[in-house]
Amino acid sequence: MSDSDLSWVDYDTRHVWHPYTDINNPTPAFPVKSASGCTIELQTGEILIDGMASWWSAIHGYNHPQLNEAIKNQLESMAHVMFGGLTHRPAVDLAQNLINLTPDHLDYVFLSDSGSVAVEVALKMALQYSSSIDGNSARQKVLTIRGGYHGDTFGAMSVCDPITGMHSLFHSVLPQQIFVDRPETQFDGTWHESDFEQFEKVLSARKHEICAVILEPIVQGAGGMYFYHPTYLKRVREACDRNDVLLIADEIATGFGRTGKLFACEHAGIAPDILCVGKSLTGGYMSLAATLCNERVSSGISSGEPGLFMHGPTFMGNPLACACANASIDLLLKSNWQANVSRIENQLSIGLETMNRHKSVKSTRVLGAIGVVELHRPVDMHSIGTEFIKQGIWVRPFGTLVYVMPPFCINNLELGRLVDGIGAVVSKLH
Ligand SMILES: *Cc1c(COP(=O)(O)O)cnc(C)c1O
Repeated sequence: MSDSDLSWVDYDTRHVWHPYTDINNPTPAFPVKSASGCTIELQTGEILIDGMASWWSAIHGYNHPQLNEAIKNQLESMAHVMFGGLTHRPAVDLAQNLINLTPDHLDYVFLSDSGSVAVEVALKMALQYSSSIDGNSARQKVLTIRGGYHGDTFGAMSVCDPITGMHSLFHSVLPQQIFVDRPETQFDGTWHESDFEQFEKVLSARKHEICAVILEPIVQGAGGMYFYHPTYLKRVREACDRNDVLLIADEIATGFGRTGKLFACEHAGIAPDILCVGKSLTGGYMSLAATLCNERVSSGISSGEPGLFMHGPTFMGNPLACACANASIDLLLKSNWQANVSRIENQLSIGLETMNRHKSVKSTRVLGAIGVVELHRPVDMHSIGTEFIKQGIWVRPFGTLVYVMPPFCINNLELGRLVDGIGAVVSKLH
């Protein structure tokens, strides 16, 4: 199959599964020729302004010279070596970077291949900690809030929202976890203590079963694009301390500046016991994730039987990915990311607000470099992609949610075209 004819696209349609698609009746997948800066070029010639940052990850845009350079340089010395019994500079530099940047006391790092695996690792840490501390009476359940998304592997799925996470399909094989309603108070709403009552009640009543609480701090991503009040997160931290339960923060979507803080936990001034990062860790170049924990967790695990932490992916600490992550972190810290994120926040706020006049639109919300237009009715996934492409933008909604989280380097002109394009598409919906 040559690249100039597009018969490979037809092959894709017939043989290749894309995320959450029906192989016999797939929604369209548009062939990409290249991507650079904040644009994606299709094989069919269209150049699209990217609203998705490839699912939260491409914070510096595509084809970035410094990230390219970091990978090329690393490639000259080694692409990969096993992490069992060997170590290397890119992984150690990354560990140091993560320990320095993340909230206090997260001093121990486990590197893995993807966000879902980082969540499995976090859950395993909590379980091993609990069996060390509690022995035979180990607390084995996890408490979480509805509307969350933590990945697609089994442990991660068990703490995703029971409805959007399709628990019914896997009910008999999924670990049964404990759920409470998500907080009602939105990010900039007025906090009422009553919003924490359910969590408090369930945690204190069932703490003898619960080893950890897991949640996405402040922003629930793929489970509903919902922004909740920082005081809720503060109360969760306090309640975990009072009830002697670990707190796992899943910052795979929110980490590295997306919400206006480097990590979303900073909105509430809290630190979790275990933290997951991924997605934008490599600036969207390759799959890499990390799970960090504090000394309470690490020494708890060490003091139990067997004392080893029982996980070890083949591609753990991949040098190419680590070198890229270090370059991405360096770029982020040297850039004016806070000014960029608040510039994007302001422009999105003004632009999306005007869409409330369309009858298809239920509400709009913006936090940091994340914008959401919530519709009354789910979009038609078979036709909506083409509508956005006609507007020269790349936006991929799900259900009733049209949302964007563009690369931080998107300029005002590009962002304006992105917002106008969304407006044009939603104005035509019913
Ligand atoms: C995307 C995501 C995951 C899963 O990461 P993958 O790399 O897709 O496995 C987990 N948690 C959150 C909050 C995410 O946004």
